Amino acid sequence: MSSGATLSDAQLRDEYNPFLSMAKGFDQAADILGLDEGLREVLRQPERELKVAMPILMDDGTVKVFTGYRVQHNFLRGPCKGGIRFSPDVNLDEVRALSAWMTWKCSVVNLPFGGAKGGVICDPRELSQGELERLTRRYTVAIMDILGPDRDVPAPDMNTGEQTMAWIMDTYSMHVRRTTTAIVTGKPLALGGSRGRREATGRGVMIAANKALQLTGDRPEDTRVIVQGAGNVGGVAALLMHREGYKVTSISDMYGAIHNETGLDMPAVMAWMRDHGRLTGFPDAAEVSHSDQLELDCDLLIPAATENQITSLNADRIKAKLIVEGANGPTTAIASSMLHDRGVVIVPDILANAGGVTVSYFEWVQDRMGYFWTEEIVNSRLEQIMIDAFNEVVKTAEEHKVSLRTAAYILSIDRVASVYRLRGIFA
Ligand code: NAD
Repeated sequence: MSSGATLSDAQLRDEYNPFLSMAKGFDQAADILGLDEGLREVLRQPERELKVAMPILMDDGTVKVFTGYRVQHNFLRGPCKGGIRFSPDVNLDEVRALSAWMTWKCSVVNLPFGGAKGGVICDPRELSQGELERLTRRYTVAIMDILGPDRDVPAPDMNTGEQTMAWIMDTYSMHVRRTTTAIVTGKPLALGGSRGRREATGRGVMIAANKALQLTGDRPEDTRVIVQGAGNVGGVAALLMHREGYKVTSISDMYGAIHNETGLDMPAVMAWMRDHGRLTGFPDAAEVSHSDQLELDCDLLIPAATENQITSLNADRIKAKLIVEGANGPTTAIASSMLHDRGVVIVPDILANAGGVTVSYFEWVQDRMGYFWTEEIVNSRLEQIMIDAFNEVVKTAEEHKVSLRTAAYILSIDRVASVYRLRGIFA
């Protein structure tokens, strides 16, 4: 596989396009499955894309227009499910890719959901709480026609959280004139949230890492872990894995990375971040740059920030033998093959970070029943689903002699395709 140094600017642009990355993974699996052309075309592209322009009254009295998207990739297996991200980098190809990954993710863990994703182009750090609330409510109204507990159920993603979900739930409920808790997941507990949801993605990442170590025969205590991102996914995974005995040697946030080869005291690191709003400055660690962090010596790398972090430009210098993808699309398709060729095992995003959508599914089920489970029940059901999915992906990889990523695509595409065949094409 060629290295990034030999790629032209246009090739690099394509490499960084997450929708093309997703399509590459899809095509490889579709070839192996022998998927016919018609189904391939149906499953490759989103079923519905909505772009909205939202005028928002800013605190200084001016009006600013924000752009938002909601893309529904597929709803054949059930209502669409997928997060909403607020970021200046949001673009349609990114939202398209993320919506497709949600379809494959829900299918890999066998949840009765299709896939969707939403995004608003904004920098939440530059918005006041009031502006954020008005933007969230306006966005909800703008995409409301395609939402619903049986149609499309959003959840948090980058820079959105429980409060955002509470505003969406309230806005939707006010419009339909009844409290509709099952319209979003990732809500506060008091509004019909699920116990264990906040930690679910990070916990799922840890379960995936535990399973991957079983394949190599390694133990958590002997495993040095680098985590990129200290948010809902990375921060929680690092904390839970520290508790499980893993040695977390480095963690980063958007401001920088910290490193201590003997292992970071993760509860102290997270307390520092809560108090100071960033990781850097933590007394018991050295500071390293974002790019250097990924290339530090380690056994396990968990990219849990954003997409396109491991690319043809740095894949050769990644030292980890095992990568567990907490973020969506952190490794480009080219980098993935380069690493696979070097024998690096990658537990792909659609499997590794599926813990979040799994407990979102539990939350939706609990809201619809009006009956809530204990945290023990949530965690043990999550663990069972993650373990079953991991085992099925490994079995598929062995059967077809392919990477875990291709195996995860094969498993999930095959499930969605068989629903299409049984339902038939509506005309
Ligand atoms: P978050 O906003 O809670 O946290 C993101 C973290 O990454 C923050 O600590 C931020 O400072 C850091 N960050 C941003 N850019 C960075 C960079 N260039 N280098 C290092 N750190 C950087 O977001 P999250 O919910 O943890 O989501 C992270 C990723 O996981 C996203 O790709 C998201 O789509 C994916 N994901 C999230 C969930 C979920 O339940 N929240 C589920 C599945 C997948």
